[in-house]
Amino acid sequence: MSETRTIKSRGAVTIDVETCKGCELCIVACPPRVLSMSTEVNQLGVHYPRLHPGCTGCAACLMVCPDFCFEVFRFEEPVLTTIEEPA
Ligand code: SF4
Ligand code: SF4
Repeated sequence: MSETRTIKSRGAVTIDVETCKGCELCIVACPPRVLSMSTEVNQLGVHYPRLHPGCTGCAACLMVCPDFCFEVFRFEEPVLTTIEEPA
């Protein structure tokens, strides 16, 4: 059994994963907690963040990242994403 949930995104980010040093500062800085570290590693051999639905475009990740890995975009209209979750 699974349930569906609709998540609203007001923004999105691009992440320069090859520049990321894997410090994880962005993970804890993101208010809605929509960033998580990858299981894969980049060319530096470190894990890097991935974006999940629910970004608000707040730019906290951009401001905290010491390596300037983020670009932040805000949508004019929220984008809805439907995900399936185990019940
Ligand atoms: S812009 Fe804000 S909500 Fe979106 S990933 Fe960055 S910190 Fe999280
Ligand atoms: S704050 Fe920047 S360098 Fe640190 S894990 Fe996030 S993207 Fe990588």
